[in-house]
Amino acid sequence: MLDFLGDLKRTHMCGALRASDAGEKTILMGWVNRRRDLGNLIFVDVRDRSGVTQVVFSEERNAALHEKAELLRNEFVIAVIGTVRLRDTDTVNRNIPTGEVELVADELRILNEAKHPPFLPGDTSLANEEMRLKYRYLDLRRDAMQFNIELRHKVALAIRDYLAAQGFFEIETPFMTRSTPEGARDYLVPSRVQPGTFYALPQSPQLFKQILMIAGFDKYFQIVRCFRDEDLRADRQPEFTQIDLELSYPQPERVWETVEGFLTAAFRAAGHDIKTPFLRMDYDDAIRQYGIDKPDLRLPALTEVRDCFTPGDLAQLAINQDLPVVAIRIPGVGELSRKERDDIKPMFVAKGGARVFEDFKRVENRFPETGARVRQKSGAGADDLIVLVAGSAQSGKDDHPAQKRKVTPAELAIYASAGLLRVALGQKYAAKHGLFKRGDYRFLWVTNFPMFEYDDQDKRWVAAHHPFTSPHDQDMDKLESDPAMVRALAYDVVLNGTELGSGSIRIHRQDIQRKIFHALGMTEQEAKSRFGFFLEALEYGTPPHGGIALGLDRIVMILAGAESLREVIPFPKTAAAKDLMVDAPTPVTDLQLRDLGIQVKKK
Ligand code: ASP
Repeated sequence: MLDFLGDLKRTHMCGALRASDAGEKTILMGWVNRRRDLGNLIFVDVRDRSGVTQVVFSEERNAALHEKAELLRNEFVIAVIGTVRLRDTDTVNRNIPTGEVELVADELRILNEAKHPPFLPGDTSLANEEMRLKYRYLDLRRDAMQFNIELRHKVALAIRDYLAAQGFFEIETPFMTRSTPEGARDYLVPSRVQPGTFYALPQSPQLFKQILMIAGFDKYFQIVRCFRDEDLRADRQPEFTQIDLELSYPQPERVWETVEGFLTAAFRAAGHDIKTPFLRMDYDDAIRQYGIDKPDLRLPALTEVRDCFTPGDLAQLAINQDLPVVAIRIPGVGELSRKERDDIKPMFVAKGGARVFEDFKRVENRFPETGARVRQKSGAGADDLIVLVAGSAQSGKDDHPAQKRKVTPAELAIYASAGLLRVALGQKYAAKHGLFKRGDYRFLWVTNFPMFEYDDQDKRWVAAHHPFTSPHDQDMDKLESDPAMVRALAYDVVLNGTELGSGSIRIHRQDIQRKIFHALGMTEQEAKSRFGFFLEALEYGTPPHGGIALGLDRIVMILAGAESLREVIPFPKTAAAKDLMVDAPTPVTDLQLRDLGIQVKKK
């Protein structure tokens, strides 16, 4: 069908023509982005993934060709052979890279017609998201999506190149496997050959990468799809992509250096230079300073201001004297109206007995000296918003199993409530404080997490990470006697309030792995039936090892300045876990179900 090209090769993409190409005969192939009919002249912008070039059909020059050009409609696929010509100075378009030239057409082929599409790639206003996802192939033709998908490619390539140069092998692991405990529900695949049995799609390649260490591949990575059936949010997808890696004989610092190295390469591929090494912060400090384990360092930290109050002030305000009083400061917010102040209260999610004082002016009016001390200690200027979070007078004393921790559960409740409000206020007043600048990337490592969390409902300790995470050597003896105080050799890498990834040094001894399963309330039998193969593998000479996994989609989303993962995943799912383009999931035929030995209950 492209016989007409003869020996002429496609040497130019539509977005590549420049003034220096003037005089050249060339061919452009692409979509009709726009057609303007000026009577004896027809202008057609031809588009491909590199951009657009204006093509001119002149009646005077070639009447038959001009007539054919009248047939062109948006999104027709065409080939135009012609000569590149400089535009007159007054018609140069400075807004596009090809704006100095145009192609004067000598020949036109309509390679394919197009129905009038529900929306056009060149539309200035965006179609609603359902339409965009249903007609994803049209949506992907838009400049912004072409940019995002190219960015994703470049970022992934830079990471692969970096890791390969560091001696990592990319090794595939199965998608049809068994459950991996990352804390979500599994997607299951029924087996036809063994009716009544199921594969699980991996929530991560965790056990396989550890087995690859046992198998002697001491530096592994994989840019890999993971599957988790959980409630979706803007930054979650049922299938998502991780940059997964594992090393033998690492100290945590070796893992961190590797991640800092590939992130540097990835950000550079997107045109940004980042500074390494990243800041490192203990979990306890992150909680005390930011009230959260994924601090956004662009906003001021919390300030502990209890010592600014006299015991009398605290009593009058019904504030607990033994618990922290923290000030949230959001710079440059200015005077708030009554309504704006009232709007803060519903934003506050009180944990434990935490209370909010959203009207700092009232506190200041009542206790001017105290107010001045709070302003001074938190470094607040006259325009800064201050909100206080404290414990209510009756909260505090408790005999919680985690009471001995550096940050007690009652303190944690206050810090965590303040931390969430700080983030919410930071977002709400972003335009006022102006601290969320594009390209301002504040990375950090959060380390030394507690090994276990106490489940208040079930009254038992649960793993804070997956159960292959190693405790600190010094804490091994507390596994059974004092689980609250056991720290994990786990770490998260955080960027601007988003957790990009998490990892850990692993347990490499079978006896300790058993102990951890036991401490998590798993019986010997359960451990054996779920992870017997792994416990056995650990007995055949397992090197110490550790690793991490980072979300590729999130990294690209941040680099693209996008609001949702769907903007950087070519074929994403909706919040209801649907693919609107192919219309999945769907019911299957009775025959398929019978083959699988499955009966579906009618609702
Ligand atoms: N498997 C973990 C996850 O997916 C990461 C790791 O520990 O390497 O979050």
